[in-house]
Amino acid sequence: MIYGHLMERPPTYPPLPVRPRPIFSVNRITRRGRPSNGNRIMLANRQIYDEFMRFICKNATFTLTLNESNMHYSKLWSMTQETMKQMRKCNLRIVAPSSMLGQFHADMENEIVRLRNIVERNMEQMTRLDWLTLHVRASNPLWLWFYGSQEFKTAQSLPFKEISLSSDCWTRGENHLSKNSSGQWEWRCPFDHFVADGWQEKQQIREFCASLYAQCAECDEDKLNQ
Ligand SMILES: [Zn+2]
Repeated sequence: MIYGHLMERPPTYPPLPVRPRPIFSVNRITRRGRPSNGNRIMLANRQIYDEFMRFICKNATFTLTLNESNMHYSKLWSMTQETMKQMRKCNLRIVAPSSMLGQFHADMENEIVRLRNIVERNMEQMTRLDWLTLHVRASNPLWLWFYGSQEFKTAQSLPFKEISLSSDCWTRGENHLSKNSSGQWEWRCPFDHFVADGWQEKQQIREFCASLYAQCAECDEDKLNQ
C-alpha cells in the first residue's frame, strides 16, 4: 500500500521539536518550500488526505505524551475529533517534571488522579482504541511509578494492555505490568515471563515494590543452566 511508504514516522503528540537545518545546505536550496509527504497529499486533494489519515489511524501506533508542556491544560493533544475516533493503537507516556517529583507523596497521588481524569476525558472519543500502553518516566521515580501505575491500571474507561516504568532513559526498567489473555494484570520480567499476580485492584506500596523488583524464576533457571 502506497500510504505505508508515505508514513515517515509514528504520529506523535505533542509533535517532536523540529531540528534546525544548517543555513547553507545544498539540500536546503534544492528542497526549499517542499512540504512534507502528509502536507503534499493534503495540498493535492482533501479526499486523498482523509483516506491517508484513515490509513494512519488504522495502522500506526500513536505516541501521546503528557509532560510539562501540556499537563496543565484541559486539552492535551491537538488532534481532530475524526483522528481521535479512528485511532486504534496508542502509547501513552507520562514524563514527570521535577516540580512534580518534589511533591509530598499525598499531593502526588492527587496530582496523578487529576492527570488520570484529564486523560480519561481526552480519550473519551477514542472509541476504537484496542491497544493502549502506559509508560511512566521520572528521574527519582518510585512514588510516581507507584501512583501512576495503580491509578491508571484501575481506570475503567482506558483499555490499557501494558504499563511499563523507566527512569533516566526510555529503555524498560524492572518488571512491568501486562494484561494476560483473560484480561487479568500480571507482573512480568523484562523478557515477558510471568513473575507475580498483578492485582486487579490497587496494590499497597510494599507489595508494589516487592512485585517491581521480584526475581524471575524462569530467567534465574536459565542463568543456572548456562
Ligand atoms: Zn524472566
